[in-house]
Amino acid sequence: MNRFAYLVPQSFEAAAKLLAGLPPRSSVLVKAGGIDVLDRLKERIDTPQQVLNLLALRGEAARIGATAGGVVEIGALATLAEVAEHELVRARFPAVAAAAGHTATPQIRNAATVGGNLCQKPRCWYFRSRDYRCLKKGGSMCYAVAGDNRYHAVVGAGACHIVHPSNLAPALVACGARIRLVAEGAGGSASRVIPIDAFFRVPVDPRQDEHTLRPGELIRVIELPAAGAGPQSAYVELREKQSFDWPLVSCAANLNDRAHPRVVLGAVAPIPWRLRAVERVLAGGGLDDRTISRAAALAAEGFEPMSRNAYKVRLVAPAVADALRQARDRGKEDSDNG
Ligand SMILES: Cc1cc2nc3c(=O)[nH]c(=O)nc-3n(C[C@H](O)[C@H](O)[C@H](O)COP(=O)(O)OP(=O)(O)OC[C@H]3O[C@@H](n4cnc5c(N)ncnc54)[C@H](O)[C@@H]3O)c2cc1C
Ligand code: SF4
Repeated sequence: MNRFAYLVPQSFEAAAKLLAGLPPRSSVLVKAGGIDVLDRLKERIDTPQQVLNLLALRGEAARIGATAGGVVEIGALATLAEVAEHELVRARFPAVAAAAGHTATPQIRNAATVGGNLCQKPRCWYFRSRDYRCLKKGGSMCYAVAGDNRYHAVVGAGACHIVHPSNLAPALVACGARIRLVAEGAGGSASRVIPIDAFFRVPVDPRQDEHTLRPGELIRVIELPAAGAGPQSAYVELREKQSFDWPLVSCAANLNDRAHPRVVLGAVAPIPWRLRAVERVLAGGGLDDRTISRAAALAAEGFEPMSRNAYKVRLVAPAVADALRQARDRGKEDSDNG
């Protein structure tokens, strides 16, 4: 690990100001729970001059609550364990609670934050190893193309074949989340809100970040709008083993807005992958088993596996069908109990 200056701001505004005041081209690394950041420092994937630790801002920045308008707000520094266990999230956005609760181990969920989960770097083993200088690190080739690509993308890749590593990402997309950002502007700190679909970046240039945050910008709050709320959302993941593991394929489905269902895959593409063809079959129609099977059968159409990950394509339809059935049946249980 290299030597770095350690910065501890007392508010998001102060953090944004600190970031904006750093000399041009200085390499700063923002830290929240530190699960990903410590790995990257230890592997020397990042060698920052400054580390800015947001954890002192827990408290208000970890709050989960609802506004008068029914928007559920999750502070960026809320841990995955807090999200998984929170009554409001469990009742109104079960897919989000499940995605957080399926992540890694209890120890990691107790430290990892929502903002960090969305911004973590990809798990591609060539990227994670200091021995490979691949396209993402400014090198001249993607080692996954001719190498061991069993966990890489099966759709949506450009020159770089990463899959987005976040469990929360597909669930938040399925629930139509928005992200409130903060940065230092000309007249002091300024915030903007973006739809989560605009947060993820397809790796056209693999050296760019996987997200669209501007330099110095921080995630402050995740907003979950009332339009996507209700019992009928679900998140499922298929893994190699049942104890903690990364998903091979995950699927988040949200059927609460019957006219605009959302179905999103994780672990198959560099960004959470919306299944528009599946959504069209389900929009406004019935949710019987036949319709679900018909919709799920369309899910992997056009996917292009690499040499060692065709198995992923075969997992897509069962994952989608399972998520859709769980979302539908959760609604039934709710009306039976009501
Ligand atoms: C064994 C193991 C298994 C795992 N399994 C899974 C899994 O199944 N699914 C899954 O999703 N993850 C998994 N993870 C990854 C883990 O969930 C993430 O590393 C963690 O969520 C990152 O959160 P953090 O708060 O620790 O982020 P940090 O490590 O502190 O930061 C991660 C990145 O986010 C940026 N960042 C953090 N907060 C903000 C903010 N508010 N605004 C802007 N940028 C910010 C940082 O600059 C950094 O680039 C696993 C990790 C391990 C070690
Ligand atoms: S998939 Fe991306 S991160 Fe992995 S080796 Fe290829 S270019 Fe590098």
